[in-house]
Amino acid sequence: MKSCIFFLYNVSDSIRIKLLMYIIVKEIEKMGYVDEVLEKLKAKNASEPEFLQAAEEVLDSLRPVIDANEAVYRKEALLERLVEPDRQFKFRVPWVDDKGQVQVNTGYRVQFNNAIGPYKGGLRLHPSVNIGIIKFLGFEQIFKNSLTGLPIGGGKGGSDFDPKGKSDREVMAFCQSFMTELCKYIGADVDVPAGDIGTGAREIGYMFGQYKRIRGSYEGVLTGKGLTYGGSLARTEATGYGLLYITQELLKCHGETMEGKTVVISGSGNVAIYATEKAQQMGAKVVTVSDSTGWVYDPEGIDVALLKEVKEVKRARLTEYAAARPSAEYHEGRGVWQIKCDIALPCATQNELLLDDAKQLAANGCKAVCEGANMPTTLDATKYLQENGVWFIGGKAANAGGVATSALEMTQNSERLSWTFEEVDSKLQQIMVNIYHNIDDAAKRYGMEGNYVAGANIAGFEKVAEAMLAQGVC
Ligand code: NDP
Repeated sequence: MKSCIFFLYNVSDSIRIKLLMYIIVKEIEKMGYVDEVLEKLKAKNASEPEFLQAAEEVLDSLRPVIDANEAVYRKEALLERLVEPDRQFKFRVPWVDDKGQVQVNTGYRVQFNNAIGPYKGGLRLHPSVNIGIIKFLGFEQIFKNSLTGLPIGGGKGGSDFDPKGKSDREVMAFCQSFMTELCKYIGADVDVPAGDIGTGAREIGYMFGQYKRIRGSYEGVLTGKGLTYGGSLARTEATGYGLLYITQELLKCHGETMEGKTVVISGSGNVAIYATEKAQQMGAKVVTVSDSTGWVYDPEGIDVALLKEVKEVKRARLTEYAAARPSAEYHEGRGVWQIKCDIALPCATQNELLLDDAKQLAANGCKAVCEGANMPTTLDATKYLQENGVWFIGGKAANAGGVATSALEMTQNSERLSWTFEEVDSKLQQIMVNIYHNIDDAAKRYGMEGNYVAGANIAGFEKVAEAMLAQGVC
């Protein structure tokens, strides 16, 4: 190496550049296909850390499948096509606040991959939203949607608008302006958005109304709609319930049940509330919930009716829950993972369960971590849990119940029919049980038994890859 550097100092600039180019090309040739694609992706998307994190996690765990098919995938540039969205839209969203002041937010929709069905994925309304976050969510959505076994592709959208603290009129003004632009790109057979953080039934209602008004078409263009205008029973509960159905199947396959288990949950939004409800129906005790300012420890078990009243009706902070419940302690900041538990269900947001939290959970004897949120566990924390005997199911599989039920809503809209709560719930249960067995089998097929993260990525990827290859270069 020393002599090489000495040599480089003693040659002309043009020879030095040629030599450096030669060394770089040789280094690239030594890399595997996955590393090569990841290197190019990092160079192209350096300002999108969440997207890079998601792509690295997925591609890394697909190595055995990719190595086995490298020649075909390389020739078809399958991975390069997979990590590049079909298209992405970024647009201005002007609206007028209650003081008559014009406000301007940025809207996004990323249509990532429609190899197996129309683009499908939620709309996130949160100040942290940027193109990198939307791309990470859209990318993950491809595999999650494939795992449901239903014909839906991957997409995601949203805005940096914060519905918190806004009046209903302000939220409506924003939603109408957002949909005025978004409606150009979506449709029941094209792209079907849904809720996500900050987008609940109220926001979906305002957006659906505006779509209908502009396009003059009554179609299932959004899911998560109200029950009086095409929504599906059990959609509200689906992500949280689905999370518990897959957790229950995981425990069952390891000879355990939910009965008597202590569960810690983060978040107190849609996913957290219905995960809490179903866990308690299954005989477990949920002792924590959190929001972005603090968390509650309630050793008697979270009172779900009170939680719904505080969060769904009053849209208030968790301090109100603690004030109304003598057994509950309120703490500022973060801290749910320090509570001793059998099962941990992160249901708030990305990167909220860190390496130190993983160490604390494992040390406290936690048996399983299943993700209700999207990518709440960092890569190092995931690795630690997997290496320290904690069963870990990532969000792609564990929170797929929401989008699966959205696809069931699309089916009901196409049929012009509404199914009963029990019909939808039993289909959801079956889908979650199937997902568990598919990811378990995929992990076993590639010699990675118990690695449900790899299993989910592989099972989701195989179907999309086959469809992409069958459809030619597009
Ligand atoms: P909600 O907006 O209903 O709730 C989000 C919860 O997370 C709130 O309690 C919120 O607290 C908390 N939260 C948000 N940001 C942060 C933060 N930076 N730090 C700490 N807490 C935070 O969203 P959902 O329950 O719908 O979604 C939760 C997660 O589940 C997201 O990752 C979402 O992508 C994922 N998901 C949701 C599905 C669904 O059907 N709803 C489907 C699949 C995945 P606060 O109120 O203070 O903001």
